[in-house]
Amino acid sequence: MTDQDIKPRPDNEADPLLISYLDAIVALTCQREALGLTTSLIDSLCQHVRAARFRLLTISNFNKIDDGDESDLPDVMVRDWLDPLSDPVPIRHDQDLLACARTRERISRKMPGMSGRRLILPIFGVNHVSAMLVIEGMREVGGEDEVLARLLHIFSNQLFLLSRNELDGLTGLHNRQAFDERIRHLVINAGHHDRRAQPYVAAQDNCLALFDIDHFKQVNDKYGHLYGDEVLVQFARLMSSVFRHQDMMFRYGGEEFAVVLVGMRPETCVPVLDSFRQRLEAYEFPQIGCKTVSIGVAGIAPGEIVDTIINRADKALYYAKHNGRNQVCCYESLVAEGKLAPVTVATGDVELF
Ligand code: GH3
Ligand code: MG
Ligand code: MG
Repeated sequence: MTDQDIKPRPDNEADPLLISYLDAIVALTCQREALGLTTSLIDSLCQHVRAARFRLLTISNFNKIDDGDESDLPDVMVRDWLDPLSDPVPIRHDQDLLACARTRERISRKMPGMSGRRLILPIFGVNHVSAMLVIEGMREVGGEDEVLARLLHIFSNQLFLLSRNELDGLTGLHNRQAFDERIRHLVINAGHHDRRAQPYVAAQDNCLALFDIDHFKQVNDKYGHLYGDEVLVQFARLMSSVFRHQDMMFRYGGEEFAVVLVGMRPETCVPVLDSFRQRLEAYEFPQIGCKTVSIGVAGIAPGEIVDTIINRADKALYYAKHNGRNQVCCYESLVAEGKLAPVTVATGDVELF
């Protein structure tokens, strides 16, 4: 090939690859919530990178990676963020993932018996690798790794900014704003979208539980607001230790919390929620002693709108409060037993206690 064969690009003709990556960056930076941001990243990758499979692995207990203490490694788990029902797997089962998390460098390897290569790219949290993008069966096209690394850098910065806005400052759980966005997202994406019937069509096998601490005002009145805050912090910790990795936990309001139990029907949720209720009942808060909680749960049934689902869980909670507190009440069971009238439409803004 001679110099004459290389045609300079006319000034007004931009590099299509560059344009497509710029589009991806614009799509990332204009996102206002974490799920939308991640969907946008994966959409861009699917468009621009030829590969068999993408996985976005989150790392739990990643602070234990750097300790150099191998005995802590079984606690470090990875889970595919794109597949909420997947089980967490210990990171030590995959030496390349471990190497990426430890060295903070990308790892590229040709996998035996697999076409294309596997590329693992780190996603940075504040000081650690908090997640990894795994691209499997990637077709060789030169120069993309660097662009991908930069794209992920923008993604992690944006994710950090968004997650800071989505967290409750006191308990560290997701806040009400995150709840509104995530439940709407879950409902829109989980089922088929039938525009003729309802604006949002929900999926089966997810449940919404609402929690309201019993007689919480007494704590504030008797011991002061700071002690009340401490109860809320401990309550959130107890929730995190009982509910699963994939369940979504939120501080819904003052002393009100919500959990979306993923992949569970109401009848299977009740024993899980009741075990949390019992754990709380047995827990001794320093100085204050024991507290109890009332819980209402409802299935996220197909064909419902979000407000109706919240309204049903709230009605079950209301029933629990007015029939002795310290119990779990299930909307579907209460309706079946004739104790509650069915809630078929949303009744405007939902007020908890
Ligand atoms: P019930 O069993 O009927 O739910 O009784 P309750 O006392 O828990 O209910 P009520 O809704 O009357 O009281 C809730 C209290 O929660 C009132 C409010 O002062 C307190 N609260 C709300 N947010 C916070 C907070 O962030 N910190 C503290 N310490 N208290 C809070
Ligand atoms: Mg209360
Ligand atoms: Mg309340």
